[in-house]
Amino acid sequence: MQVYADNAATTKMSKTAIEAMMPYMEGIYGNPSSLHSIGQEAAEALANARERVANCLGCEPKEIIFTSGGSEADNQAIVSAAKNGERKNKKHIISTAFEHHAVLHTLKKLEKQGFEITLLDVHENGLITAEEVKAAIRPDTCLVTVMYANNEIGTIQPISQIGAVCREMGVPFHTDAVQAAGHIKINVEEQNIDMLSLSAHKFHGPKGVGAMYVKKGIIIHNIIEGGAQERGKRGGTENIPAIMGMAAALEESCANIEENSKKVSAMRDKLIEGLSKIPHSILNGDAKSRLPGNVNMCFEGIEGESLLLMLDMHGVCASSGSACTSGSLDPSHVLLAIGRPHEIAHGSLRLSICEANTDEEIDHIIEKVAQVVEYLRNMSPVWRDLTEGRKNYVIQ
Ligand SMILES: *Cc1c(COP(=O)(O)O)cnc(C)c1O
Repeated sequence: MQVYADNAATTKMSKTAIEAMMPYMEGIYGNPSSLHSIGQEAAEALANARERVANCLGCEPKEIIFTSGGSEADNQAIVSAAKNGERKNKKHIISTAFEHHAVLHTLKKLEKQGFEITLLDVHENGLITAEEVKAAIRPDTCLVTVMYANNEIGTIQPISQIGAVCREMGVPFHTDAVQAAGHIKINVEEQNIDMLSLSAHKFHGPKGVGAMYVKKGIIIHNIIEGGAQERGKRGGTENIPAIMGMAAALEESCANIEENSKKVSAMRDKLIEGLSKIPHSILNGDAKSRLPGNVNMCFEGIEGESLLLMLDMHGVCASSGSACTSGSLDPSHVLLAIGRPHEIAHGSLRLSICEANTDEEIDHIIEKVAQVVEYLRNMSPVWRDLTEGRKNYVIQ
């Protein structure tokens, strides 16, 4: 049995998305900027996709800009808000310590350019509050950017409340909703969101395509100069097949959001219950305010990397954190942000499931994780110190 439980890294494309793309790789291959009929067919498809993506988010089609993915959308939204702020001499940005690197590294760059960045501390349950955001807002704050749902520990932030606070204080609010879009209900209008990023490959669409929602009236600055595509805000011939695939995948995910969420969160809870029986294990992130498909646990006395490799041999594809940090020896910045000590953060496992997983697969994962954790602990000198009382357990 091979079980894919790494949907937070990327998802398998849906049949719907693949079928929506095919016509635009075969018959309708025009450039939407061309004035002839073959080009205009592509332009119509583009307009149609924009309308469908906008419908899923509760905004106007002209408030959607297509990008190459979540990272580009994050970069452009943040850099745009920073430039708008700079013009009014406002150079303070608020975010959190556990954002995706597409956000954190963009903020680092802005810091070098003279912006002041406040990274709010995250509570042990992986959440921040709207009050904490409010308290951090200053007269020179030009942006609040807080992720909708965390890619490692799956916690869902109180986005509507944070949006309301930002609206009240007159500060633009951006959210990286890459893990949330297609998985939990979003309405940018009702939730007071000014800018939002999403990425197709996280909801069964193709890789290399995403979108940014920008509320009417907010000025967006190019990071890719070129032609007049995307109302001049993003140069480059539009990737029509990918955009069509994204629109179809988002529409399908949004239409089934409640049913999928119910099914997936039931499997998630079963997984959490099963894995929690392993001694000296702990769930990372709030048990309730979390994505339907996310499980993230720490197991004391083992290395996440060995756990992953052995699970792979037993047919379980999982992750130790985000795909972007695996391969480096640093423990996850997210687990450190919620206060896990280094040695515990090293023994983490992220399982991210979706509606295609089955109960049998969940049983298989529970069985294999328990076996592999026990095997690794039996070889671990740290574990021996713990069991023989030379060291104290961190996870009780
Ligand atoms: C995957 C991810 C991104 C990056 O999206 P890409 O389309 O891969 O560039 C950004 N933020 C979060 C929270 C993500 O999970």
